[in-house]
Amino acid sequence: MKKIYAFHQFVKLDRGPVNTCISDLLKGDIFQVPNTLAEKFEQRKFSEIPDFIESLKEAELIIRVDENAWIPPIRPENEEEPESVSLLLELEEGTDIERVLNFFEENGIHIMRIHLFADSAGPEERVKGIPFKKMEKDFSACKPLTTITGDFENIHEDAYFYNKKYNSCWGSKLAVTRDLSIHPCIYSGLVLGNIAEPGCSNWEDIWNKADKYRKITKSQVDTCKECEFKFVCFDCREIARVEGGSLTASNPNCPYDPLKGTGLHGQ
Ligand code: SF4
Repeated sequence: MKKIYAFHQFVKLDRGPVNTCISDLLKGDIFQVPNTLAEKFEQRKFSEIPDFIESLKEAELIIRVDENAWIPPIRPENEEEPESVSLLLELEEGTDIERVLNFFEENGIHIMRIHLFADSAGPEERVKGIPFKKMEKDFSACKPLTTITGDFENIHEDAYFYNKKYNSCWGSKLAVTRDLSIHPCIYSGLVLGNIAEPGCSNWEDIWNKADKYRKITKSQVDTCKECEFKFVCFDCREIARVEGGSLTASNPNCPYDPLKGTGLHGQ
């Protein structure tokens, strides 16, 4: 049987118009290579790209396998939606915590953690058995997370697959402000409903709206939808919405142009 090179099952390739992102979900490493190299690899023209093959071997991204070997995927791409939802709850200081927790409990929502946004941070505690932490309320702290330099944080397998289905920031959280209105996050001006209003007993309506925001992935976002980094890159929809004027506006803090492959590392 003829031997060929193949990527390990924990390596994911995402193609942009010019470049390919190679994500090593075992070590968390992220590499960017020109599409021409990735295509030659896929076409098994290994002898034309010896340096590339050497660098892939060095990074432990490829193995020698029989030509027709099947390498199973590490996990199914289309995992079912979980039946119950666990959320991070963000609260504004002064919010009636008991009332908010009762509201979510009545509607079958499990709160896995509470962040209370205040003037200063505090130690980790528990409220009604739920991990609770006071955080400093500072929207400007979100900007560095979306400032793209090309040096991406290590990517974990769970985060990669999560980013394919959910928004990396809004995917598993809701926020409630002092006036008991519900938002996708504590900094968002979008209102999903208000716990104090009688109509708010219709949790399904609120959840349908929340679900729409939770599931804005970079595959829907201007510019990012073309980008090879779209599943390894953090997303803040509130910054894009405020600065770009729409929920699917591109990240204003990213200099990369995936259509040209320029803007990072002085390119
Ligand atoms: S274009 Fe979008 S996905 Fe690509 S690097 Fe910039 S912010 Fe990330």
